[in-house]
Amino acid sequence: MIIDTHAHIDVEDFEKDREAVIKRAREAGVKYILNIGCDIESSYRSMELAEQYDFIYATAGIHPHDVKSIDNDTYSHLRQLLTHPKVVALGEIGLDYFKNYSPPELQRTHFRNQIQLARDMNKPIIIHSRDAKEDIISILSEFFPTNPTAHSGIFHCFSGDQELADAALDMGFYISFPAQ
Ligand SMILES: [Zn+2]
Ligand SMILES: [Zn+2]
Repeated sequence: MIIDTHAHIDVEDFEKDREAVIKRAREAGVKYILNIGCDIESSYRSMELAEQYDFIYATAGIHPHDVKSIDNDTYSHLRQLLTHPKVVALGEIGLDYFKNYSPPELQRTHFRNQIQLARDMNKPIIIHSRDAKEDIISILSEFFPTNPTAHSGIFHCFSGDQELADAALDMGFYISFPAQ
C-alpha cells in the first residue's frame, strides 16, 4: 500500500489543478495522503482538505521557518486543530539552521513547546531537521525515551548522518528519504 506521508497540496501552486493532482495520485495507487501544516493557515487548510476527501488526513504545526509568526493565539489554535479526528499528528516542527529564517533560540523554544503539546495530546510528531543534529538529538531526548512502546513520529526528508539516524531510531522514529 502506498501512503504519501508528506504532502503540501494545500499550497497556492495547486490552486488551478488541485483536484486533478489528487485524482492522479489516487489513480497511481496512492491510498492515503497526509497533508502537512506549516503554520496556522496551512494547518486549517489541511484540515479542510481532510474534511473534503476521506483518504486525506492532516497535521497541524508551526514549521521552524515560521515560528517567528507565533502569537498569543497560536497554541490554542493548534490545540483546537489537534482535537479534530482527522488531524493525526503535530508537525512539521523542528530546527533549520541552514536557512535560519527564524532565530535559532526561538526555534528551540517552539520546538520544545510543540513537542510538549504533542506529548500532552498523545500525537506523533513530524520532524523537519536541517544542519541541527546536536540540538535535535538533545531536545528530543528530553521528551522521548529510548525503545519507547509507541511510535514517536517521523523524520521527514532525512539528511542527517548515521549518528542522527541511530538516535532517531532508538527513540522510536521512522526516517524518510526524499526521491530526487
Ligand atoms: Zn514539508
Ligand atoms: Zn520540511
